[in-house]
Amino acid sequence: MLVKTRCNFCNTDGSVVLASIKVPHITEPSFLVRCNGCGLAYMNPSCTIEEEKEFYAHDYCKVAEERHWHENRFPYFEQAFQRIGDSFQTGRLLDVGCGKGYFLEMARKRGWRVYGVDPSQEAVLFARNSLGLEAFAGELKDAHLESESFEVITAWNVLDHMYDPWGDIQEMSRILKRGGLLGLRVLNLDFHFFLYHLSNVLGVISVGRLNLSPLVGFHPRMFSSRCIKKWLERAGFVDIQVGNSALVPGTTSAVVGRVTEQFLRKLTYLLVESCYYLSLRALVVGPSLMIFARKP
Ligand SMILES: [Zn+2]
Repeated sequence: MLVKTRCNFCNTDGSVVLASIKVPHITEPSFLVRCNGCGLAYMNPSCTIEEEKEFYAHDYCKVAEERHWHENRFPYFEQAFQRIGDSFQTGRLLDVGCGKGYFLEMARKRGWRVYGVDPSQEAVLFARNSLGLEAFAGELKDAHLESESFEVITAWNVLDHMYDPWGDIQEMSRILKRGGLLGLRVLNLDFHFFLYHLSNVLGVISVGRLNLSPLVGFHPRMFSSRCIKKWLERAGFVDIQVGNSALVPGTTSAVVGRVTEQFLRKLTYLLVESCYYLSLRALVVGPSLMIFARKP
């Protein structure tokens, strides 16, 4: 069932329609709209909070491929450890949306005392039983973690899946120590909206068999670099850095084949990083954003 919703940050429904979207297994039409206030894009109408909770608690773990949890993520895990290492050598690290715990396992090997939270009972059981990690199965707020108790909090590819991302950012700020570092990764709305348009144009003019639509990623919530900066500033964070995330093997191989996928990925990263540095870090146009911010 789809229900009318509002911007999670502004609590208003003033918005413009960006795209019509199809929710799997639901016949009702829905739209990706962009909030006039903060620039967040979100699905409206959307699934109910209960349905979203149910999906991430029980189904997401089953539909996500194993490589999605594991080696596909290593390129940006490494990128994250480099940035974290500039601020801290060790301490307590919380990974929100830890999944099966692979990032936590890598952090532990680097000397961090780690803790994870994930809504999926199945994923958390794997993290506990197979990797020997400490993790809580459920929502971040229900973990009741102590205030100012972690040097680093990370949330990789989860903020755009959370049904209350603004509430969760505030909760992460509460749990983070003063001077602590927050690390986030989300899809880049600007990139995927551009690709959506390009895909439609190529569809109209029928350029051979090229179909870019599998590359377009629309999540229930979508952030641009401007939007996420605005949210983090409002939450009181400082030293906010929004850059391109390292690219990971993904759906590109379904479009061009594995042979050229790696080459295209490196070329894309080179191009988007060139835009970033030539614009003096103003243009962040890659497929995913990597964000770091400090609690003062
Ligand atoms: Zn808004």
